[in-house]
Amino acid sequence: MTEAATPAKPYRLTEMTWRDVERALEETSTLLVPVGSTEQHGHHLPLGVDGFMPEAIGERVARECPALLAPPVWYGVSPHHTFKPGTFTVSTETFQRYVIDICASAGEWGIEHVILLNGHYLAQDPELEIVVRELRSSHGIDAFHAPLVNLFAEVAAEIRTGEISFHASEFETSIMLELFPELVRMDSAERVDPPDESLPLTDYDALGENEVGWALTAAEMAELTHTGNIGDPTVATAEKGAALVEAAVSSLVSLVEALEDE
Ligand SMILES: [Zn+2]
Repeated sequence: MTEAATPAKPYRLTEMTWRDVERALEETSTLLVPVGSTEQHGHHLPLGVDGFMPEAIGERVARECPALLAPPVWYGVSPHHTFKPGTFTVSTETFQRYVIDICASAGEWGIEHVILLNGHYLAQDPELEIVVRELRSSHGIDAFHAPLVNLFAEVAAEIRTGEISFHASEFETSIMLELFPELVRMDSAERVDPPDESLPLTDYDALGENEVGWALTAAEMAELTHTGNIGDPTVATAEKGAALVEAAVSSLVSLVEALEDE
């Protein structure tokens, strides 16, 4: 995301000097950490979707309210996507330790609130819930886990036209069309339906009601989808993406403002 205008205040840590950070800390003690994954997203989306989305959303949040934006965590827990090349995965233990260390080190130089913007939502939610607990109990950091899907769920339920949106389908494709249209290959997008019957008490939809916890293996994913996506990306539009992004940004802005008002 490059914009011609210079931002009024710097917020992107990788582009700041330590003295910029020192000055910024007079205005904010909140850090946004995009947490993604590098994994297959079907024929039509790039491997970096789960990092691109939270980073761009974090950027919009940081422009609107006092917060600093950390470089994204690009590697996540994606064992179920390793049936296609280009996917990286790390163990739950490695991932948790790495994210905890990143956030705890920011606590050393003045960050009090950390918001983990999870672009690989559903799949690494459990890990990040534990990370938040550990940061709070052992590092004195006021940490939050913000899975993008939760932030836009209400709007998504209103605007969706596809029946199932599980992976690399209506929601992710719409958001990418809004944020990074040059990276989306709509002419390769293909609808892939999940099995007619879900397992009992589970759902293949990202907004679905899962009454029991579950997870797919790479072998199961390979059987479910030849493209890598599950759901219908062909109904995605940039307009839907704009509404989803706006919902996520405005929730996060109110969270940051509440934290900074404390
Ligand atoms: Zn994804």
